[in-house]
Formats: sequence, C-alpha cells, structure tokens
Amino acid sequence: MLDHAAPVPIKRSSYIKPHIAIDAVHLTIRLFDDRAVVICRFETSRLDDSTKPLTLFGGKGMALDRIVVDGAPLDASQFDTAQGEIQVEVGANSVVETTTTIHPHENTSLEGLYLSGDMLCTQCEPEGFRHIAWYPDRPDVMSVFTTRIEAPRSWPVLLSNGNLIEEGVLDDHRHFATWHDPFKKPSYLFAMVAGDLDHVQDHFTTKDGRDVDLRIYVEHGNATRTKHAMESLKRSMKWDEDVYGLSYDLDIFMIVAVSHFNMGAMENKGLNIFNSKFILADEETATDGDLDRVEGIVAHEYFHNWTGNRITCRDWFQLTLKEGLTVYRDQEFTADMHSRGVKRTDDVALLRAIQFPEDSGPTSHPIRPEEYSEINNFYTPTVYEKGAEVIRMIATMLGQDGFMKGMALYVERHDGTAATCDDFVAAMADANGVDFSQFKHWYSQAGTPVVTITRHYSADTQTLTLHFHQKLPKTAAKTERKPMVIPITLGLVGGNGAVVPLHHDGDTLDQMTFTLTEAEDSLTLTEVPEDAVPSYLRGFSAPVRLKTDLTDAEEMRLLAGDVDPFGRWDAGQSLMVKALTSMVATPSASVDLTGMINGLAETLSDKRLDGAEKAQILRLPSQSIIEAAVADHPDAVCDPYLIWEKRRLMMSLIGKGLEATAAPMLTAFEKKANRLTAQDRALYGRLLGLAVLSGYAGAEDHALNLSRHKNMTLSENGLAALNQMEGANRETALAEFADRWADNSLVMEKWFMHQSSAPMVSTPEHCDALMEHPAFDANNPNKLRSVLSVFAAMNTPNFHANDGSGYLYLARHIAQIDQRNPQVAARIVLPLTRFSLYSDERKAMMKGALARIKSAGGISTDLSEVISKSMN
Ligand SMILES: [Zn+2]
Repeated sequence: MLDHAAPVPIKRSSYIKPHIAIDAVHLTIRLFDDRAVVICRFETSRLDDSTKPLTLFGGKGMALDRIVVDGAPLDASQFDTAQGEIQVEVGANSVVETTTTIHPHENTSLEGLYLSGDMLCTQCEPEGFRHIAWYPDRPDVMSVFTTRIEAPRSWPVLLSNGNLIEEGVLDDHRHFATWHDPFKKPSYLFAMVAGDLDHVQDHFTTKDGRDVDLRIYVEHGNATRTKHAMESLKRSMKWDEDVYGLSYDLDIFMIVAVSHFNMGAMENKGLNIFNSKFILADEETATDGDLDRVEGIVAHEYFHNWTGNRITCRDWFQLTLKEGLTVYRDQEFTADMHSRGVKRTDDVALLRAIQFPEDSGPTSHPIRPEEYSEINNFYTPTVYEKGAEVIRMIATMLGQDGFMKGMALYVERHDGTAATCDDFVAAMADANGVDFSQFKHWYSQAGTPVVTITRHYSADTQTLTLHFHQKLPKTAAKTERKPMVIPITLGLVGGNGAVVPLHHDGDTLDQMTFTLTEAEDSLTLTEVPEDAVPSYLRGFSAPVRLKTDLTDAEEMRLLAGDVDPFGRWDAGQSLMVKALTSMVATPSASVDLTGMINGLAETLSDKRLDGAEKAQILRLPSQSIIEAAVADHPDAVCDPYLIWEKRRLMMSLIGKGLEATAAPMLTAFEKKANRLTAQDRALYGRLLGLAVLSGYAGAEDHALNLSRHKNMTLSENGLAALNQMEGANRETALAEFADRWADNSLVMEKWFMHQSSAPMVSTPEHCDALMEHPAFDANNPNKLRSVLSVFAAMNTPNFHANDGSGYLYLARHIAQIDQRNPQVAARIVLPLTRFSLYSDERKAMMKGALARIKSAGGISTDLSEVISKSMN
C-alpha cells in the first residue's frame, strides 16, 4: 500500500480504449480462517487487429501464484508484480486463469476483500478489485460474472451479485454458493460477503408485475433496527418507476450493513454494501435528520442501478456522470417525499459550507478533473454536490419534460455500456434540439463563479434594468475561465410578500429564468412598481456566489415573505453574514442587531412556516461561509478564532432578543414532547440551543431533562444544547448517555462527536482520552471521524488554537492512520489544507503541520497527493 516514489499523475487526455474484451468471468473464492485463494478465469476476444498484450492490474506486489493461458501454465515468477501491472500475451480468443492468495484478515485499508467484525466483505470502487484478483480492472471493461464462494460452514451466509444458482455442502465442514449476474458490469461493481448474519426480508412488485425479493443482512441483534431502511428502499423503487419509468431488473436485491466502511455505501449490482450507520436507524437510536439521511442514501444507492450500473463510467474522470446525476436524483426523491423547500435549503447550506471552500482551496478541480494521482481523492463535494447542481441547471433550462426526454435518450443510447459526461450532455441536447457546447464549461472549469447584479430603476417609465456581470476566480486548478452559462431564476416581491408580476417581452409571469451567457448582460422589466424588491437566484438556480445591491431593509422584506423558500432563507443568511462581517472587521464596535432580530421574531411567529423552515432560518451561516465573506472585506483579517467568537456572540444575542417569543414556545414543546412532529422537533432543538447559550431561566434543567427522552431527536436536542459550554449539567447528561448506550457502538459515535466538538472543553488531551475508550476502535473509520474529523471541523477554538497545537495534534494522528488506511487519512487531513484565507502566520503553522506528516516518509499516494497540492 505504501509508495515512496512521487506519484505520477494520470491524465484524462491519455485515455485509450480497451483493445481486448472480457466476455465472461468465472470467479472461485475459497475462504479460510487466515487467507483466501482466488481463481479468476475469463474469456477474452480482440476488439481490433492489434497484437497488443492484455494488461492485468493487481495490488502492488500482490501474489500471482499461477497463471494459465489457453491451458498452458506460464512461469508466474517471470512477471514483475511490484508495480501492480502485468502484460500477458493472448490470441484472438483466449482463456486466461489467474490464481492469487490474499490475506483479508490483515487488510486494514478496507479496500478489496477484508474482515469487518466477524464477516468478510468487499469494497471494489474504484480500484479495489485488483486487490482480490489480477484482472483488467477498469470501468470500461464490462463482463458477465459467475462467482462461486467456498467457506467453512461457520460462515453460513455466502452472497455475491446477481441470482443464486447453486449451493451445497463440501467436505471438511465446508459449503459453497454460486451466484450469476446476467448483466455485464465492470469489476468495481463486484461484491461478496461471507459471515454468520441475520436478515430481514420483504418484497416489491414492479410495475410490470415481477416480484423482487428484498433482503437486508445485519449482524445478529440488529434486525429490529432495519424497518426504516426497508421502507426507504421500497419507496425508492416505486419513485424511480413513477418519475423515471425505471424498474429493477434482477429477482433479488440485497443490502448488507457493515460496521467498518470507508465511505457511506456502495451500489454493487444487486448487493449493496452499507456503512451500518446508514441502515440501522429508528426513532430510539437515530435523530430525524439521521433517518432522512438513511432514506436518502438507500435511495441514492438504489438509483445507481440505472445511473451507474446499467450505464457506467468509461473512466474515472467521468465519475460525476454517475455521481452528480444520482445525487440530483436522490435530492429530488427526498424533495418529493418531504419538504422541497427545506431539502433545497439544506443542500445549498452544505454546498456552500464544504464545496465552495474546496473550489477556492488547493485541491480545487472541475467536476470532471483533468488529472489525478489517486482517484480515491476525487470522491469530493465538487464531483458529487456541484456535479448535482450542474445536472439541476440542465433540468432548469430544459424543464421537467425536456429533462425526461433527455434521460430517455441517454438510456436508449447507452444502456449496457460505459459512457462519458459528453455522451450525457449530447443526449440532453439532441433530445431537445439545443446547443450545450458553452454549457459544458461547467465540466471543465474549476471555481465558483461570482455573479454581480446591479439595478437601475426609472420611476418615470417604471422600468427596472438589471445588469449582470459574471467572473470566474483564479483557482489552484488553473483551468480556463471563459464565461459560463448561468440560469438565474428571479421574481419580484411586494409588501407582505405579494407576488409582483414580471412584464418582459410581452409576457406576464410570476417568475422567470434569465440565462446569463456573456461576461456582462442586462435585462429590462417593465411596469415595475417603485417598491418591488427583486428576489434573485430562486431555488438556488446556479451554484454561484451572488453579490447584489439589495439594502438591509429590502432583504428584511424578502425574509418576511418571499414566496420562494430558498429566497426567504437566503435573505436571512445574507443579513447575518453582513452583520457578522462588520462585527469581525471592527471587533470593538458595539453591535445593534435590533432590526434583524425583529425580523427573526416575526418569522418565528409566522403561521405560514412550519417548524423545520423556522429552524433553518434561525441557523447561522457556517463558519466557512463567514470566513469567505470576511476575507472579501477590505479591513478585516480572517481569523477563525475571532470569527467563531463573534458567531457565538451573535447566536447568544439572537437568543436573548427572541426570548419573549421563544420561551413560551419552549414551554409548550416540553409539555407535548411526545406528540411533536419532526418539524417541531427541529425548531425545539434550535430554540433550546439558543436558550441555553443565552441563559434563559431554567433552560439548562429543561435541556438535561430532555436529554433523557427515549426519542433520540429530543435526547440529542437536550444534549447538544448543554454541550455548548462547560458545566455540571453537561457532564451529567454525557455520563447518563454513555450509560444508556454503552452497548450500542453506533450510538456511541454521537457521544464521541459531542465531546470532540465541544468548544473550549475538548482539548487534544481530551480527544486522546476518548480514543482510549472501550467503545473506540482505531480501525473503524466512523470512530476515527467521530473524534478527529469532528475536532478539526467543529471545535474551532481548539483546532485553531493560536499556538498551533491543534494542527500538530491532527498531523500526529494522520501519520499513524495513513499506515493502516490511506483513504481515510487523506480525508481527515483536509481541514489542515484550508488555509488560503488566513494570515501568513497561521498559514505557516498549518503548512508546518503538513510538512511534519510528509517528513515522516513512506506516506501513501493518497495522502501525498493532497499534501503536495497544498504545499505548492
Ligand atoms: Zn453514488
């Protein structure tokens, strides 16, 4: 796994099509207590008249016990396996068989075949299959797999992709199962699982009447916590039929919940493997937010059956082809199942908090990168979340019917093949007779465009002219910066939120989408009353930063009643960001938030909004959003500690200002705690947090009491409120929580997270103590993230301590983790690379910590790529 040489980047432009096809694969996997023997036999046929050898990939230095071509054994010792690539001479049609011995029990990287608890499982995307067998492990090589697993009978459950075609007993207390997947697939979608597992079963009838067996496999004792995941699966299957007309295609669909998993979940054909965190969830063990996330991830992986599996990616540069599209699909599913406005706002808040900083930082890249050293590093918010925004813009511009016509053509043209982003965009364009050539800059240009809108109003003629200007900032990716295609949905808001009709080119509309394609352009609207306030970028119609000349008073109008839920929420966010920026720029000046607080108080009493919408409006912008705004301010220094302090001050001032409205609401929530809706629970949590921080009478006792509630959302509402500061009630709540959940490893992750995120309280020493706790497991990515990633992302005062101790602390752990699990190390390191906005002194400390990791030597390609980009 370790690579001492500098990584050589792989370029998108160097793509060469495979010249040999793999027509059928027969895998035999013999599992033993200390090893696995993998026999991989496959039939090849030439796709061109070249005589080029066949390239097989394997783990660097992975055993090649035996290799046979057309019945003739080759001298395996003649192959140099050190670089993970060998060349084999084959004829026009040949049969190749490789035999490999691997050691899944020693595999801590969690890619390929590995042990999680007592079960053996796999993770092959993107390049894990090569750690199982020597094979043409690239996504554009698709084949039909038949897999026979042989194992001791102490592992009664043996699963792989497709349908079970044979099973039986063998000598020596062993048994076998053979699975056949009739659909061609690349090796990254291969999966197998072996273990002593429990399962729950249900079924789904497709729209054409086929019955599909649905199963969720879990470790013994967990079956009772799968109901929500199973219901989510059935809703997803129905939605994909109703909305996209896409049905499931095998007789059985299986999900396996695994406790040791690098990512969230994996869409292997017919056999999804999930981080158990995203399957085992009910109201007692998971919050409302967790349950929605489970539903969204189950849907996402299921939707991949078409967008990812039936149509896969030609090469890994095309990753957003399946991920951007499938994230868009799961976002729309959630919007249809729950509240469209709340879902959109949540997604935008996430994009701004994690993708915008990536776009302006050292690891910036377009949604379709041009080169990589380690593809594992490109499973990023840019490829996923920004990728989904790009799909959403296509849908906005084509309309729902046009988008569906494009999807139908895409499926018709590319089903059963490995496609590219260009193929997808071409299907959308051809089905609708439009030209998307300029739009494709979104695939090749990195960075978040900045759109500035200024107004010129003529009272005489009642015309409003909007001037649009776009600029793509320079990024570390150094891609081109040509004008982009930016759809901007806009409307006009009158008093009390009244919809002011738009008059443009003879049409009268409630709202319209103006598409900006030049560096500068303008739009003139007629019959505009003087006091109408424009609401821009409705529904967040493009992933851009917006600068406007709207005054505070105008944004207050939007906050009070824009019919667009995003517009309403964003007006509040903008007011908060502006106020915070000036608080940071002039830290000693007195703060007057009266206007904003009055607006928030009105929102809180607004009967048109539900609790979840109110909770979102009351949520302050994330630290990274404020940092970016402060960095733009000519007189302010972007000091993360100061920003954190002012953000907390603003929260407590808002809390105090809202007390008259919020305190009676809290009393009412407490009285009917058992009968609240999820929306009300969201608001309850937000208000209780403000109440504790601002010191409402009795708020701490209220929170302590609530932390004991059997509903996890309410319990977490109480605990999170107390966790904001040191104190005996916090200690009591944490101790009781640990007592109650000591036996539930997943729930204990929440307990770790509360502590590692606790401002002021949780120093590096505290985090080290957490990692000695019996519920902690240093080989489990969830546990590592629940302490170290949470510390770096959420514990600003300690991570950004002025002496640099937080940076060195993270660096020390990353160096150790990298030895065991490079993928996870390369993720946890990212907060250390987000220094571009900070002072030179702070930059030097963060770079110093990175240099220390690098100087340890022998770091993985994964980690080396991230660090090198950041240091340059
Ligand atoms: Zn995915």
